[in-house]
Amino acid sequence: MHDINSDNISRLEKLISQARRIAIVTHMKPDGDAMGSSVALYHFIGMCAGHSVKIVLNDRYPDYLGFLAEDIPASDMIIWQERPAEAETAIKDSDLVICLDFNVFHRTDKLEQALTESKADKVLIDHHLNPDRASFELSFSETDISSASELLYHILMETGKIAHDATMLPHRAATALMTGMTTDTNNFANSTYPSTFRMASALLASGVDRDEILSRLYNQYGENRLRVLGHMMKDLLTITEDGVAYIVLDKATLEHYNVQEGDTEGFVNMPLSIAEVRMSIMLKEDKDRVRVSIRSKKGTSANTCARIYFNGGGHENAAGGRLNIPEDISGISEAAGYIEEKTHEYFTKENGNKN
Ligand code: 5GP
Ligand code: MN
Repeated sequence: MHDINSDNISRLEKLISQARRIAIVTHMKPDGDAMGSSVALYHFIGMCAGHSVKIVLNDRYPDYLGFLAEDIPASDMIIWQERPAEAETAIKDSDLVICLDFNVFHRTDKLEQALTESKADKVLIDHHLNPDRASFELSFSETDISSASELLYHILMETGKIAHDATMLPHRAATALMTGMTTDTNNFANSTYPSTFRMASALLASGVDRDEILSRLYNQYGENRLRVLGHMMKDLLTITEDGVAYIVLDKATLEHYNVQEGDTEGFVNMPLSIAEVRMSIMLKEDKDRVRVSIRSKKGTSANTCARIYFNGGGHENAAGGRLNIPEDISGISEAAGYIEEKTHEYFTKENGNKN
């Protein structure tokens, strides 16, 4: 963890202590890691008096993550889609902006402009490939790590306030960090490192209730989620000769099953359980775009595929992006053909490179 050194930790502590107004920003469509790391940092900074801290989101987090934010007042959690002017002002008027779980400003969607225009000092804490370090005064970027929540945990451990003693973390911060790591690793199924288990061990010992977290995350869904999963795997899953499994969820299907944000979390991983599948892609039709999730097995790069063909990126084996209409496809009915053509091109080129 190259960026976690005493010099950078001192700089971070100084930036926080000198700032009166602090904005915490994470990526659009916030997931467990985005919310977990943001909420944890909010409570950590709350340990020190004299700061106004606000979490600024592009859009609301899914209901199943609501427990993380239960005790954060609405005035400290500003969502652009609900209060755009307030969200932009919070970013522009702050002295310090701390960005968590994303690598480039445009991942915050409508907050991008405010971030670019803000004169505040900016700090990055992220675990994605290709971070835009030039946009930040201070960057903590580590890709060999489970999650932004884990990275933040190791940073906080180094601070004078926590001093390598996880019991010094506010309980809600500890719970949020454990939650973010748990969702980004798919409950310890991928991207886990020795450091991940050390973190989990220390947080458990400090009193974090993992059973409660698991219950909140995985046992509170509506019936519709399992119904749509059944439909997807039985009727919508296609597997190409290249070993690409893909599913297209169009608006009609999403509406029919009343699919809410977060309901399909994790589904894209499932086709990887099939021996011959090398890569799994899930498409969801959104208001003005098609959202893309990609997962791959070792030896196949979801990140490269997302960058070349899907206007996105992420991690080596878990990435995402979008298809723009009409630039990439003229409508959702063309999505299947686009995936088949582009992934075939990807695997043909990849084999060409290897030979
Ligand atoms: P998911 O499929 O769960 O939405 O995203 C998988 C991973 O790829 C996450 O770490 C997410 O942050 C990243 N990701 C998703 N969409 C994009 C995108 O459009 N651009 C980049 N750079 N990363 C993305
Ligand atoms: Mn993450």
